[in-house]
Amino acid sequence: MRDTLVIANWKMNGSRADNARWVETFNAKAPSLSSRCVVCAPFVYLSDLVNTLSIDVGAENVADEVQGAYTGEVSAEMLADIGVKWTIVGHSERRTLYGETDEGVAKKCARLVSANLRPILCVGETLEERKSGKTAEVVLRQLDAVLKVVSPKDLGAIAYEPVWAIGTGLTATPEEAQAVHAQLRARVAEVDDVAAQTLSILYGGSVKPANAATLFAMPDIDGGLIGGAALNPNDFLSIAQACPAR
Ligand code: PEP
Repeated sequence: MRDTLVIANWKMNGSRADNARWVETFNAKAPSLSSRCVVCAPFVYLSDLVNTLSIDVGAENVADEVQGAYTGEVSAEMLADIGVKWTIVGHSERRTLYGETDEGVAKKCARLVSANLRPILCVGETLEERKSGKTAEVVLRQLDAVLKVVSPKDLGAIAYEPVWAIGTGLTATPEEAQAVHAQLRARVAEVDDVAAQTLSILYGGSVKPANAATLFAMPDIDGGLIGGAALNPNDFLSIAQACPAR
């Protein structure tokens, strides 16, 4: 079957002192978890985390070029070089605030795969798109752009994150999320049925200790991408504890 995964997205938060406290709390309880966990953090803290966390570390972004005159960018090869294993790509904050396109996201995924890193591909619709019945059209368009250049077996995970649920306290119901996850899996299956059955499809959007178990009980929800609640190691541990091994 497929891995269950619970991934922290710290966004632009943290400090060396805060992170050290987070790691200490997390590492003490990590052995009791049955799902796999990953922490995605700002570039500057990744090396520290690789050296201290008992689980895999991920980046929150990557360059879409390999190397050269791209001031301020960080390549997939550089991330691999310091021991990073995963990277979030296409988060809605990057699509909305930094103008990332479906094609740009696909290019980043391809760079990660070439460097043997696992892309965590985020897809999701805005509230307006959901209200106008365009959810499937939007998330499948975002997925298709990536499937044109990356084989499904090379995707680390897909994260379905309705934009209207990120950091808002609003959550898709388990049934709403399950319906989209099933559509995403069916689209992957059209390309590679075997990969579709093993690919982890995560839900993200205001997941908290109180709502995690009902979301993770759905058959196509294989874990979560956790933003705000992941800043508190005890909340993140509670969410991970609510995610059963499959
Ligand atoms: C996210 O940013 O990926 C996210 C899911 O955030 P939150 O959990 O805060 O909604």
